[in-house]
Amino acid sequence: MVQPDGSRIGNPTGSAGDTGASGSDAGIEAFIAAMPKAELHVHHVGSASPRVVAELAARHAGNSKVPTDPAALAEYFTFTDFAHFIEVYLSVVDLVRDAEDVRALTYGVAEDMARQNIRYAELTITPYSSVKRGIPEVAFMEAIEDARLRAEKELGVVLRWCFDIPGEAGLESAEVTARLATELGPEGLVSFGLGGPEIGVPRPQFKPYFDRARAAGLRSVPHAGETTGPETVWDAIRELGAERIGHGTQAVKDPALLDHLGEHRIPLEVCPTSNIATRAVERIEDHPIKRMVDAGLLVTVNSDDPPMFGTDLNTEYAVAARLLELDEAGVAALARNAVEASFLDPAGKKRLVAEIDAHLAGWRR
Ligand SMILES: [Zn+2]
Repeated sequence: MVQPDGSRIGNPTGSAGDTGASGSDAGIEAFIAAMPKAELHVHHVGSASPRVVAELAARHAGNSKVPTDPAALAEYFTFTDFAHFIEVYLSVVDLVRDAEDVRALTYGVAEDMARQNIRYAELTITPYSSVKRGIPEVAFMEAIEDARLRAEKELGVVLRWCFDIPGEAGLESAEVTARLATELGPEGLVSFGLGGPEIGVPRPQFKPYFDRARAAGLRSVPHAGETTGPETVWDAIRELGAERIGHGTQAVKDPALLDHLGEHRIPLEVCPTSNIATRAVERIEDHPIKRMVDAGLLVTVNSDDPPMFGTDLNTEYAVAARLLELDEAGVAALARNAVEASFLDPAGKKRLVAEIDAHLAGWRR
């Protein structure tokens, strides 16, 4: 998720599809684009592409400053600095005003996923933001579920939800999110998260809410170690029962933590381009993904808020392939990690892994 602690934002590794790779890497990019994939760390509103935003803006034409033309929107999405990024992000949040908007946004995101051959995604949704804006709670749940069922039937994209607490909104938002998750949680809900800034928002204060969500059978997936040190990851594990870590970028600074993550097979949801955009990592060459893999961790690759960061999941795989010097088999192994780390049922995992294996076996035969 976005971290308002930096000043440089947007498109740090080039436009989507441009990984800074030479022409000889075009083959791996084609392999990635056609590969069936799972994504575990991607935000609902943060996934709204210019096409989806144009659709929402058109629904509220005359009542929003957001352009309705996709070309003008591409320009609108070019950020001058972090404050500008936050301004644009909030103007998109402001376009989601009723249940129909939620339906259009969610299905539009699934269409963009289908185009990338994403077969399964755990989409992080912040219901607090929507219900606080006046969208009725039950109508909100029905809207996301309608979109989920339609996406699965019409697009072959299986969606599951993670309801997350927006950390910057404090304990009131935690209470609302826990109540919605445990009392109104729809069928597609599998996990409970914590996003927003880490600085000044200690993880342990959210323990009672995670306890309630976990008691209701939801899995624990807080963001941690993105912009604060390894101790936040320890807090997420010890206090919030984290079963996967959102980002965990700073974990490499603590050898004991690396041992713990490896030993307990606690996966990391790594989002390379996001980390550069928010300045969690200074340069892409300095990204710790290789150290994570070398330490034997279960590393998954994700896009976080893709259009906001000028990326998509295919681009993130290409970035990872370059940083880890992977060939097709290595990229397929990374894709299998995401399936293993997902909360998909065993039969679904088996099917998706078989699809990835078939893609690898059939490539350039
Ligand atoms: Zn995030």
